[in-house]
Parts: sequence; C-alpha cells; structure tokens
Amino acid sequence: MRPMHTAHSVCPLDCPDRCSLEVRVEEGRIASITGSRVNPVTEGFICAKVRDFAGRVYGPDRLLHPMSRTGRKGEGRFARISWDEAIGTIARRLEETRREHGGEAILPFFYGGSNGMVSQGAADERLFRAIGASRLARTVCAAPTGAAAKALYGRMASTDLPDVEKARYIILWGANPKHSNIHLMPYLKRAREAGAKVALVDPRLTLARGYVDRHLPVFPGRDGPVALAMIGHLARTGGVDRAFLEAHTVGWERLLDRARDWSLERAAAVARVATRDIAALAEEYAAADPALIRCGWGLERNRNGETGVAAVLALPAVAGKFGKAGGGFALASSPAYEVNEDLLAGHAEAATSVIHVNRLGRALLEEQKPPIKALFVYDANPAVTIPDQNRVLRGLEREDLLTVVFDQVMTDTALYADVVLPATTFLEHTEMSVSYGGYGVQIAEPVVPPVGEARPNDEVFRLLAERLGVADGLPRGEGLLRRALEAIGGPLAGPAEGRLERLRRERFLGFDFPGPRPVQFGTAFPTLPDRKARLWPEDLGTDPYRVLDDPATREFPLALISPATDRTISSTLGELMREQAVLEMHPADAAARDLVDGQEVRVRNALGEVRVALRTNPEVRAGVVFLPKGIWNRHTRNGSVGTALVPDSISAVSGGACFNDARVEVGPA
Ligand code: SF4
Repeated sequence: MRPMHTAHSVCPLDCPDRCSLEVRVEEGRIASITGSRVNPVTEGFICAKVRDFAGRVYGPDRLLHPMSRTGRKGEGRFARISWDEAIGTIARRLEETRREHGGEAILPFFYGGSNGMVSQGAADERLFRAIGASRLARTVCAAPTGAAAKALYGRMASTDLPDVEKARYIILWGANPKHSNIHLMPYLKRAREAGAKVALVDPRLTLARGYVDRHLPVFPGRDGPVALAMIGHLARTGGVDRAFLEAHTVGWERLLDRARDWSLERAAAVARVATRDIAALAEEYAAADPALIRCGWGLERNRNGETGVAAVLALPAVAGKFGKAGGGFALASSPAYEVNEDLLAGHAEAATSVIHVNRLGRALLEEQKPPIKALFVYDANPAVTIPDQNRVLRGLEREDLLTVVFDQVMTDTALYADVVLPATTFLEHTEMSVSYGGYGVQIAEPVVPPVGEARPNDEVFRLLAERLGVADGLPRGEGLLRRALEAIGGPLAGPAEGRLERLRRERFLGFDFPGPRPVQFGTAFPTLPDRKARLWPEDLGTDPYRVLDDPATREFPLALISPATDRTISSTLGELMREQAVLEMHPADAAARDLVDGQEVRVRNALGEVRVALRTNPEVRAGVVFLPKGIWNRHTRNGSVGTALVPDSISAVSGGACFNDARVEVGPA
C-alpha cells in the first residue's frame, strides 16, 4: 500500500456539475477531496458537501455488513448475516413472490443516489427485466421540464455553462446555482464583471444582493402567467422577433393569442408581484443581446409544471434570443444525448406495470394488480424524499412486504428493511458518468478499498441474477464499460473502437459539436422533422399553456416550498447534518400569527405535521414558507419532514411531483 498519493475520481451524485476530483489517500484512507481540472468546468473547486464525503465513507452510519431485521419495522434493530445468507434469503423470497403473485409484485425502487452508468441501469435493470418486475416511472424530478423542452424543441442541445459569461442579461428562473449548480457561479460573476445584468425569478432571494440586479419573487406555480404576460407585453411593445418566428417556429400565432389573455395586471395578481416588475423584466430581457434564460427545476414542482416551463422556454423564440453563443436557454444537457437503455440492460423492456415514483405510498397500500409484495430499494431514500411521507411509511410498515435496502448508510428507509445490504461508494468502485449539466463523459477507478463488507451494485445484482437462475452474460469489467460508452448517443455517439482507451487516458471526453459548444439555432437545432420549434406544443395537450388554480384553502393558505440546500444532495449526506432543520417564514407572516424567531412551531395540513423551530427571513416572500429538502427524520422535533405535507398529486403530462403544491398553516407547537 502506498503511504500517500493523489488519485483521480469523478463525483457521480445527483448534481449537474459532475466534478472531476483529486482524492488525497493516506495509508489507504481518504484524507481529503478537492476539485481538479480534468473536467474543465470544475475549475479546481467543489462543493462543501463532497469535500466532506469521507465523513460518509468512514462515518458511524456506514453500513459495514449485510443484516436482517430482528425488531419491528422502522425500529432499526438488526443482526449481522453473511453475504451468502443475505443473497440466498433475498433470492428465495423474490422467487416465492414471483411464483405466488407474479413478477409484477416486485418493485425495484431507485433514483439518483448514484448516477453512474455501471451502478444503475445495467446489471440491476437486467435482473429486474428478467424476472418481469414492475417498472418505476422515475418522474420525481425533471420530468415536467424534460417534457416541455422536448415538446417545444425536441432534443435540441442547451447552452453550455462556459457560454453563460457571454450573455449580457441572464434570467435565473427557478434555479439556485449557489446550492445546486455551483460551477455556474464563476460564469455569472464573469458575465457581471463584463457588464451583464442578472434577474432572479424565485419566491426566495437565493443569491447575495450583489449578484442580483432584479428579483421577481413569483408565487409558486405562477411562473407560466408571468412568462405569458412577458410575451404579451413584448407583442404590444414591438419586442417580438417576427422574422425569427416565421423562419424557425410553428404555432407562434396561437401562442401570441394566448398571451393576450394574460395582461400584466392579471399575471401580477396571481403571481403576487408588481405589474411594473413584470414589464421591466420583459423590457430588460428584450433589450439585451445576447440574453439567456437559465431554467432550473424549481418552477416545475407544481400542478402547472409542464405548462409553466413551456411558457418560459418559448420566451427566447418570441424575443429572438437564439443564434448566438450566450443566448437562448440553459437547461439540463441530457435531452441532447440519448442513452440506449436497452443496450445497457442487455434486452428490451417488457410491458409490465408502471408504478409512479411519486405515489409509492399509494402503490404499497392500494395496488392490487397485483399487490406489491417485494420492494427493492437502492440509490434512494423514499421514506423522506417521496410525497406524502406518512402514507409511504404506512406502506413500509406492512408486515407482509419484503423490503430490501441496498445502501451505503443506515437511511430512514433502511430502518424499515427486512434485509439491509452494504453498498460501496463511488470512491470504492469503478464508475462511468455522463454529465447532465454539461457535455462530457468521465471515468473513475476505485481510490480506496471497500469499507467493511460493502460491495458494488454491479456485483450484487449479478449475484442475485445467478441465484435466481436468470444470469445471461451481461459483459463485465472492460466489456461493460465499452457497452456503456456505446449506449451514449447524440453528439458523443461513435464507434467503440479505441474510445475507452482514450477515455482512460484523458479521463474526460467532450461532446462533438461543430464548434466548441452548441449554439441554439446556430449549430444545434430542434430535432423535429422540419427543425422548427413548436410554440403551440401539442404534445402538452390541447391547451399547452393552461393554468390550473392555486390549491390554497382558507384553512391552509401558505405555500410550502422545500428546495435544495448546501447540506445535502437530495437526501444524500443527510446523516452528516448535525443541526435541526428550521422553518423559514417572512416576518410579516410570523407577526400575523404572533410567532417569534426561535419558537417551536407546528407546520400542518390534512396530510401531517412537522415540528421545528421558526426562523423569520425577509428574503422568503410573504405567503410562502420554506423547509429544507433532503433532511432526515432526525432533523425535526417530531420525526416528520417536509414531504409529510406534500400531496402525492402528479402533473398532468409527465407525472411530475408537485412538491410546491403543499399548502399549510403554521402555529405554535
Ligand atoms: S455534488 Fe456537484 S458540485 Fe459537489 S462535487 Fe459533486 S458534482 Fe461537484
């Protein structure tokens, strides 16, 4: 063992930045983690969350060996068992379930705990397809945004981060780069130093005032009316690029017609902002060149998810902001490339039942065709991350449900498991990752040995497949890495020959655009038959810009939002958060309820309640309260988190989660 060295790695967590890392290893243990420049966007720095990742690898919550339950579900009492016994037990129970209820009674449940192509979508997918398990519609995040973008522009590439600094006006719409996309920050800074203005559309002032020239504190779910009113204002004031619309779009006349319904006054009333501020935002955006909209995922998390995003993404076409580096819109890069999931999984998906990720509780308690009898959770922590937490927990409490949790640490979900399996972290196994915020694929080898008896996903799903008699020759090692590279389509598609060797050498392969980066309507076009944008996107329904009413009631008038923070990535790393969560509320809302800073409060609605301390904050808009995303049950006084207050309703087109449709009241505890 070398006493001290620095190793290369890549962060595969659910974050758009996909940082390249330098890991300092001393005596076989991680001593420090910093950013490298292998992925140029990383620029040598990373977030504090992953700088502290050694705390997860060696921390007290780390799972070290397989265990089986000895106490009640949720109690967290387990006894150590061997891997052989664990795999044997799980295989036997899955086989019994399949024999008695059919394969669809088995539900694999996974999300973005690790987004690597080796850990997810290969051996796991192959196993669950082979046994005819139910399929999970993984629409908890990005589904409405993806559906809207695809309906308007197909798989057109998004503006890449380095071009942000060329913009002279940047609207951050429902995005908080300080917490979820920190590598956008240097480009914003450089753009501002070169004279750009930054506008933020968000219920909270999430960036320091020095970064934001205009803040529009839109009420949750009301982004669509604001964008439509901006379009209507541009149409009335000569701000529409008619030549662009005629040459590159279809359906624009109907969009402009619809925008007329949304006067500035009407939109301002429902979005609870000033009329003049919507007009000013539209005018400043129209006057700037290039002008960019960085569309985040905050605006999709409500019943108007797809239609709100569609109206925002129509703005650059209406105002003629495409065709230049630094213009257009910046979104996830993933729509630009397709991953051939069937190639990676080895065979085509069967048409088994589809269970919505956002309705897990309902599926566990109510599904009858057939009932879910076995739940296999990996790379996910649904006990705290999925809407309607109390219903999810009631489902997990079912004594007749076999629950397997395969994770790195003892999560709130693992407490309900019948069998717990210890997983390796990305620093302990080989992984290949594609960025969903930029354009590149990266590879990393293990930098430290597995802790305890932890094993990689790939190995464990193969073992299970063998024990179940469905192993059928998915390539391993180099073969699987080659297969993963071949599965990536779009601008990175190409012959496998020599590419893995090149990736190993260079550790980063960029996407192949004509030019250094994509320019929308310059080098990247809508991937629709006529290369034109659909500004009346019928894929979103007969009325693609409809606006549904706000779900507030007299009893529960406050909108609860639960965005990401600088502590966790979804709920990953929550075990390292020592302090209790707080509810943030505008001082005027607190005063109206006779509540004071630091006081313990009850945040409640018909679905549940959360008890935490109150923090007043003038930077959260009135009428909106804020609990952090990704906290664990231990972070509140009553062991419930924000998802206990979130309905399990889903958006109409893509089945997206409606986290920001939670309406609550707050009172003293
Ligand atoms: S979580 Fe995001 S910012 Fe942090 S290291 Fe990973 S990719 Fe980079």
